[in-house]
Parts: sequence; C-alpha cells; structure tokens
Amino acid sequence: MTRLSMHEQLPFDEDATASPISTGDLPQAEEVRAVVTEAYERYRSNGDGEVADYIPVLAQASPDWFGISVVGARGKSFEIGDVAVTFSIQSVSKPFVFALVCEALGYGEARRRLGVNSTGFPFDSLMAVELNTDRTMNPLVNAGALAATSLAPGATAQEKWELIRQGMSRFAGRELSVDEQVYASESATNLRNQGIAHLLESYGRLYFDPDEATDIYTRQCSLDVSVHDLAVMAATLANGGVNPVTGDVVVGRGVCRRVLAVMATAGLYELSGDWLYEVGMPGKSGVSGGIVTVAPGKGGLATFSPPLDPAGNSVRGQLATKYLAERLGLNLFASVAASRDRGTS
Ligand code: GLU
Repeated sequence: MTRLSMHEQLPFDEDATASPISTGDLPQAEEVRAVVTEAYERYRSNGDGEVADYIPVLAQASPDWFGISVVGARGKSFEIGDVAVTFSIQSVSKPFVFALVCEALGYGEARRRLGVNSTGFPFDSLMAVELNTDRTMNPLVNAGALAATSLAPGATAQEKWELIRQGMSRFAGRELSVDEQVYASESATNLRNQGIAHLLESYGRLYFDPDEATDIYTRQCSLDVSVHDLAVMAATLANGGVNPVTGDVVVGRGVCRRVLAVMATAGLYELSGDWLYEVGMPGKSGVSGGIVTVAPGKGGLATFSPPLDPAGNSVRGQLATKYLAERLGLNLFASVAASRDRGTS
C-alpha cells in the first residue's frame, strides 16, 4: 500500500488558502440564455442513440425528451425544453453519494476504501473487480458505487438510506423521493448488481450487508429528479459545496474538488477520456438520459435526453454540453497567451 501513502492529503490547510478558485464567471445572463437556446435548437432533432431498456420501465421514456438547464454559482437559472419532465437519477447519483461519504469519512479514507482510478471497463463490469487487486476502482462505476453506498453513515439500512436521501435533497435544494415504479422495476432485475455486491463482500471491499447495500443503491438510483434539479446539484459542486439557491453548506470545498477529480476521471463510462478531451470539465451521465457537468466556480450544467450511445451516455446531452462548453468558454484546459506588459509573473 505504499502507492497510496504517497497520496496522502495535502501538507497544507487548503481551507486557509486565500483564493481557491482558478476560473472566472459565466458570461452575461443574456449570452448564457442565447447559447442555451442555440444548443437546444441545434440538437433537438438529432435522432441518434437508443433508449435504455435493461431496466424494463426505462424503455417507456420518450426518445424526444430533451431539456437543458444551467444554474450559475450565484443561483441564477437558464433552461429550455422538457424541464418539467421528471426521471430517475440513476448513475448521476453516484458522485453525490461519494461526496456524502467523503464528508462523513474524510476524502482520504474514502479513497482508501473505494479508489479513484478509472477501470476502462463498462459500468457494471465484474471483470474490473476480478482483474484489479484493489477490487473497487472508483465510486462512479457500479462496484465502487455499491461500496460507497455501503459506507453511508448509519447502523441500519433505514438510517443509511435516510442519510443518502436527505443529502441528495440538500444538493438539489428540495425534498427528493423515490419513483416507486422504477425502484420496483430495477429491484426485480438487478441480479447483476447483487452479484457485484456479493463478489465485493468476498474480497472484504463491501462495508454492509450486500443485499441491503444493493437495495439502498437501487433506491438511490430511483430518486426522481428534473433537469433543473440536476443543474442545482451540479452548481453546488461548482460552488465549493454550498447550494447556490438555498445557501445550504452541503459538503466542504475540499470534498468538492476531490469529487470533481473523480468525475473527470470516470464520469462518462468508458468514454471519460473522450469527454474530457472535448468538453474539458468533470461530468457524470446516467442511463435514464441525464448528464451533469461542473464548471468550477462558474456553475452547473445539466441535460436530459433518453437516447444513449453504446457506452450509456445521452447523445443529445453530450452534443449540447460540448456546444455550451465551447460557446460559454468553460473548458478548464483552455488558455490564451498572457499579455507581456501586464502583471508580474
Ligand atoms: N441503476 C443503474 C444500474 O445500476 C445505474 C446505471 C447507470 O445509470 O449507469 O444499472
């Protein structure tokens, strides 16, 4: 485990540093509104991708649904399309549950228990568990996510579930509840996740009863959200862990930046590298068609559109987010040459 000890927490108190934000603001409101509208008009008629059906009830989603929401770090929202439709959050829950676990355990301990590297395998891979001796590689694929859920504070399944539901609700700024139809449909078909949980238990990498942990995870994935809820949740991660709409301090800023790092590494399934290459921001997608993207210090972006690419990422969502990233100047890796006659360094 020497490999991990190299990566202990930073040797200084990051909360004492004066200016932890490396980026500026979103453009002016009119410009954001115009660009959100352009992104919607550009991609609304795209017909690529397939609606997920491995959880039977998800197949009922309309392939035409498309919504975009942007929430700035000061709480202002810009949205268009199917913003009133609600859907199960699915994998988009994973970074937020990881954040809650980091907050409870400390992000160093959370990394030791869950890992923060990508697997290169599909989200529900058992091979990834077998081939990597750490067993859980990161909390954004099912193995690590089941382990993260199992680490939620609480002595009973009910206590763990309430902590997760309440924490997710604080990220969203409203009380979230389970879509019972999705929960029933996924519970009846999630043998693979049950298998992953039992396999992890056999390796000592699950931290609660495997059947109960899978059940809590399934509830967490069935929480009913709108694209606006997702954008507020993303904006909370963009705002040092403070919900910009309610002012609630949901997680610390040290937790926040670690969560974003894992999202950048593993947020879009096996295509996370392609995503970072093109969008240049941490994101997380889910099989019901949601994607959250975080522009640190600036705001949260969310898209919702059910047709998915073969890896499980919303097709329209990826296109719209790439467009927004480019037009709003959000790519974290972008720079222009500094003027030589200004500043000292
Ligand atoms: N609840 C889903 C599963 O475990 C989430 C998958 C996803 O959105 O990637 O299969």
